[in-house]
Amino acid sequence: KETLDKGLEKTKDSFFSKLGRAVVGKSTVDEEVLDEVENVLISSDVGVETTVKIIKRIEERVARDKYMGTDELDRILREEIAALLSTTNPGDTLQRDDFDVPADKKPYVIMVVGVNGVGKTTTIGKLAAQFHKRGKKVVLGAGDTFRAAAVDQLKLWGDRVGVPVISHGMNTDPSAVAFDAVKKATEIGADVVIIDTAGRLHTKVNLMNELTKIKRVMQKFTPDAPHEVLLVLDGSTGQNAFIQATEFTKATEVTALAITKLDGTAKGGVVIGISDQFKIPVKYIGVGEKIDDLQTFNKMEFVDSFFK
Ligand code: GDP
Repeated sequence: KETLDKGLEKTKDSFFSKLGRAVVGKSTVDEEVLDEVENVLISSDVGVETTVKIIKRIEERVARDKYMGTDELDRILREEIAALLSTTNPGDTLQRDDFDVPADKKPYVIMVVGVNGVGKTTTIGKLAAQFHKRGKKVVLGAGDTFRAAAVDQLKLWGDRVGVPVISHGMNTDPSAVAFDAVKKATEIGADVVIIDTAGRLHTKVNLMNELTKIKRVMQKFTPDAPHEVLLVLDGSTGQNAFIQATEFTKATEVTALAITKLDGTAKGGVVIGISDQFKIPVKYIGVGEKIDDLQTFNKMEFVDSFFK
């Protein structure tokens, strides 16, 4: 919780000071206050669609109750945000350090997608470390074969954590890497396989074909793989993260989100907007560069951190 609070400091500070300014000298929530709140939400990168939804819900409450004091605004915003997150995050019972995979799917296959630079490799490394720490047997697949650095970095993580990395080197077929990773995991009785993929958003069709092929080839070995398609987004890029989510959800069926770099940004509101707009659960958030700075997403804790 401490790491989370610290990680969201910038978002919180900016959100709070702006929210404070929005109600200064006002005792009731009127149209003017709501306009200000709208600006605060938009500037925290909650996204227009979700902001409009939140404001509408508050307006409805004001209309219904005939009155809302500005002293209640925090609590009500918190409730509305939590309500939005709850409809989209069935996994919210997760605790911050609740890293686990279903035991009945062995090996549990996680395919990781996202554009370069968002923190994909780091997230895979941190996840591997967390699973490994809890006694799970992990195999990594270096499927981002278009960047030598990605393969090397994943190998470094593998060495650091002490888990095998399946790699065929640069410019090889990523689906072959995925196949071999799943095969290796099955042979050694691993609990979880995490497969990196190339993060080029070149043309949509290429991306889609590439991801579809990786899936198809893996399925020759494990018919229900991948069990999870984890899209990594950089929270500090604000609206770009929304665009990437749009592109990737068109290219493949994304089942979970990891939103990174929330520590360096005041744009933490992306978590709320993206989760609401895409109806995909946020499973992990990154709030720093250290291994423990990847946390499982817990709605109530997140909302609490956001609101001080
Ligand atoms: P990739 O190209 O998507 O694989 O990105 P990398 O995993 O190489 O990460 C890019 C940079 O972002 C690295 O310097 C990471 O240490 C950094 N990074 C990743 N996640 C986080 C995070 O949650 N917080 C911060 N501050 N940095 C992060």
